[in-house]
Amino acid sequence: ERIDGGHLRISGLSKAFAGVKAVDDLSLEVRPGELVGLIGPNGSGKSTTLDCISGITKPDAGRVELDGIDITGMSSSALAKRGLVRTFQSTRVYETLTVRQNLAVALHGRQSIMAEWASYLSPQSESRSFRERADHLIETLNLKHVEHRKAGELSYGQRKLVQFAASVISPPRVLLLDEPLAGVNPTIINLFMRHIAANHGAGLTIILVEHNLGVVVQLCERLVVLEQGRKLADGNPHDVMGTPSVQEAYLGR
Ligand code: ADP
Ligand code: MG
Repeated sequence: ERIDGGHLRISGLSKAFAGVKAVDDLSLEVRPGELVGLIGPNGSGKSTTLDCISGITKPDAGRVELDGIDITGMSSSALAKRGLVRTFQSTRVYETLTVRQNLAVALHGRQSIMAEWASYLSPQSESRSFRERADHLIETLNLKHVEHRKAGELSYGQRKLVQFAASVISPPRVLLLDEPLAGVNPTIINLFMRHIAANHGAGLTIILVEHNLGVVVQLCERLVVLEQGRKLADGNPHDVMGTPSVQEAYLGR
């Protein structure tokens, strides 16, 4: 099924911490279905940008629109309901729940799990739509052999895959990925790349923050480079990587 919408428009976004401008008057438009790589040195404001878009932090100034609606300052749970989902650098999963239960919580939300907790504990009571999506993700992300294990018992890479599966199961219209590949092995990098490409192919709008430049250049049709919270370059990967200021700031040349 094709994903509609997911048009993100960010204008004049700013966020400071104790006087340090983490994000400084950033404007950025991501069109529906676009896959944009957001890169830049450590501390350049990539995660804070995702935090401001996804309701983790309130920006000091600026505006974020999703499909023409002002979503600035909305909570992350409200945004998830509107189809905007992010993942974190530090893997966030429910460690005491199994892989399948993590996906159930992701699909049905935390509100409903309070009321229907018991039903999630038994596979027999899974809804058909959940079962189909969960089975597909579990299968294609190589998680079948651990689907009934608690997420806290899994390897780091597997937990990153669970977090990713949870982020796409709904499915969202906009997905913000914060360094999904950091610290995972080449097999898992390949799995991630295939899944990111497949979601992009299905029309999902994606911002991918990633240090692995080879991956970013291969996957993304457009790169945005941040430096000290400001946009240093924005364009196709070839042009952006060839820009002298980018090479200086980002590659230290
Ligand atoms: P990146 O993800 O590009 O590495 P961040 O967005 O994490 O960059 O950080 C941008 C800047 O904001 C850095 O100088 C960082 O130290 C600072 N920063 C980020 N989050 C906080 C916070 N919660 N409190 C104080 N400073 C922060
Ligand atoms: Mg970061």
